[in-house]
Amino acid sequence: MSLRREHARLPFHSIISVTSNHMAKKPKSPIKPDTRLVTAGRDPQANHGFVNPPVYHASTVLYPTADDQVAHRARYSYGRRGTPTSEALEDALRELDGDGCAGVALLPSGLAAISAALLSVARAGDHVLVPDSVYRPTRNFCNGVFARLGIETTYYDPLIGSGIAKLLKPNTRAVFVEAPGSQSFEMQDIPAIAKVAHEKSAIVLMDNTWATPLYFRAFEKGVDLEIQAGTKYIGGHSDIMFGCVSANAATLPALKDTVYSMGICVGPDDMYLALRGLRTLGVRLARHYQSGLRIAHWLAQRPEVLRVMHPALESDPGHAIWKRDFTGASGLFSIVLKPASEKAAHAFLNELTLFGLGYSWGVFESLAILFDCTEYRTATKWAPGGPSIRFHIGLEDPDDLTADLERGFAALAKAE
Ligand SMILES: *Cc1c(COP(=O)(O)O)cnc(C)c1O
Repeated sequence: MSLRREHARLPFHSIISVTSNHMAKKPKSPIKPDTRLVTAGRDPQANHGFVNPPVYHASTVLYPTADDQVAHRARYSYGRRGTPTSEALEDALRELDGDGCAGVALLPSGLAAISAALLSVARAGDHVLVPDSVYRPTRNFCNGVFARLGIETTYYDPLIGSGIAKLLKPNTRAVFVEAPGSQSFEMQDIPAIAKVAHEKSAIVLMDNTWATPLYFRAFEKGVDLEIQAGTKYIGGHSDIMFGCVSANAATLPALKDTVYSMGICVGPDDMYLALRGLRTLGVRLARHYQSGLRIAHWLAQRPEVLRVMHPALESDPGHAIWKRDFTGASGLFSIVLKPASEKAAHAFLNELTLFGLGYSWGVFESLAILFDCTEYRTATKWAPGGPSIRFHIGLEDPDDLTADLERGFAALAKAE
């Protein structure tokens, strides 16, 4: 018997009922974010009782009859347009954002999420405002692709606050924010910036990878489009590339249209791993926060360290804003060493055995990289006064991490 005839024997409603929703059992009262991480995007009874949704490797979707195809009578039409796997992940991310989030687009990397969100709002002749402390590839996108499309970018001091009013022009279409800043951890007054932007009908986009929706409620603070590099904390295990954009009702249609039109979709295994990562995001982030802050305090006491850039430290210039707007911190921060030779800074890093020397972050292990923003910042001056190192504090025991750093400092002294 042909497959088509096999399908045709099933009453149509039985096909759609298997996959029609992911939240069959609704919680009976409003629930907190940690609970949402467990319940969101799930409907075990739609999956024969299995706890997790299946991974649909899919392109073609078969219609039971020609009538159904012509009338577009199907829940799913094509792999790129969505599967039960992608919908489960979208539902979970939307529920995590809560009120204000109308929908989510999934992208194959954090950078793809940034570029898709930006492309969904700007057109030729527009002007966008981007903080000088933005993730560097975002800057490359604006200077390259946006410039080529006739979209002008002005970089602004991330500490500008409501002073951004003087940079808004009649054609300013979007204001991008990211807090804390990449590498250097400047805090931005996002509610103040969003208020001014909205008065001038500009759209506010935020890269919320550092705090995630657990520690910064972007939509409550005036953000219209929230971007996350899911490669970092959502994935959490250094094994996927993933990004997502959450949108409010006003910005969602253009976002979805942009992503669909460009044909961007995420591989099913990576979507599954992103959904799996979400389940433990709350406990992982709490541990990254606690250990990261402890090691930031420890580093601040070290004689070799000139400055620690971590907004949850009371000494940090951005602390007041962090305390007002954020409910936690992740495990990523930077330090500036007292003036030291390149050889000594390298000796420090080479001595570390528990800190991997590598890009990316948000994953289970601790990481460290040297960085220097001098070359590319244009609206502010980066003159830290010593070699700069960014740390990601992983899930190891923090005592082992400080012992590792202690050995690093001994190697630094020896190399000087
Ligand atoms: C890593 C990162 C990105 C990009 O994510 P990828 O998945 O590596 O493309 C975007 N924003 C910030 C703040 C990041 O740190």
